Amino acid sequence: MIDIAIIGKGPAGWSCAITARMRGLSATVIAPRNDTGWLRSAERIDNYPGMPQVSGREMLDAFREQALAMGAEEHHGLVRQIMPTGGHFMLLVENDVMEAGAVVLAMGAARPKLLPGEEEHLGRGVSYCATCDGMFYRGKRIAVLSSSMQGVEESGFLAGLVSELDYYSLKPHNTDDLPDLAVRCEAKPNAISRDEQGMVLATDQGDRHYDGIFVFRAAMPLGMLLSDLKTEGSFIPVDRAMQTNIPGVFAAGDCTGQPLQIAKAVGEGNVAAISAAGFLAKKG
Ligand SMILES: Cc1cc2nc3c(=O)[nH]c(=O)nc-3n(C[C@H](O)[C@H](O)[C@H](O)COP(=O)(O)OP(=O)(O)OC[C@H]3O[C@@H](n4cnc5c(N)ncnc54)[C@H](O)[C@@H]3O)c2cc1C
Repeated sequence: MIDIAIIGKGPAGWSCAITARMRGLSATVIAPRNDTGWLRSAERIDNYPGMPQVSGREMLDAFREQALAMGAEEHHGLVRQIMPTGGHFMLLVENDVMEAGAVVLAMGAARPKLLPGEEEHLGRGVSYCATCDGMFYRGKRIAVLSSSMQGVEESGFLAGLVSELDYYSLKPHNTDDLPDLAVRCEAKPNAISRDEQGMVLATDQGDRHYDGIFVFRAAMPLGMLLSDLKTEGSFIPVDRAMQTNIPGVFAAGDCTGQPLQIAKAVGEGNVAAISAAGFLAKKG
């Protein structure tokens, strides 16, 4: 059981981890290995105090090193679901389950746009998890839709089970390591539905039939991540303590709204850690 699970390894997440450690709490920062955080692509930052003219990557590495040196833990994986259970939280991280006393959402502002029909068929022909559902498609025909290298890695596993695997890139990424079985498809997926023959993937080059469709994205829609979480558009409303509408769940950084800036993310991460510490102390 971790004291604070921090979702996202951007400035808000690392700042939260540093303050959590200052308070003597265990803190695990969770994000996909192939990080999608915005700051990594920034060539030069000039408006963060004390670190002039650094690249986004250099700044993130400095935040990370400081947090890890203070005892924060890092865990790789996309958080798929958070479930409040009996006074604490269960987190489904790829294929692992983690438990935490409090959760800080520091997931940035990037929100995936789902295909029409995707959410409706999730668990009924559409899957986000190769390890959990791959066995159901042994000897069958599947499509893999992916926005990142994760799809390439999971295709390596799925190729050992299925008979046919069509690979669709939702965003450009390196597909050199796809297994031999995979067929790279140029068509653009538009929607998912089902008919009497199975799952239908509608593309700009016509409909294609599959037994199952695996989708790998770099982020999760907020409603699917944590049901009952109040949102305003694609942002999470918080009070001055960074408290969301769910007790024990705090949010910090770009995911709480404008301005989308590093200094604001770092400050909110700090406040979220202090508030989470207060929440845990009250719980005893
Ligand atoms: C090109 C560019 C230049 C910029 N320049 C500046 C600048 O000069 N000055 C400035 O102040 N700001 C700048 N910004 C904005 C700045 O990058 C953001 O405000 C800042 O990164 C926000 O930090 P954050 O921690 O809230 O989110 P992010 O840095 O976006 O980090 C979000 C993290 O959450 C992770 N994540 C998301 N969903 C999940 C999930 N379901 N499970 C696990 N992990 C998840 C992501 O992988 C990532 O690690 C720039 C942005 C860009 C794109």
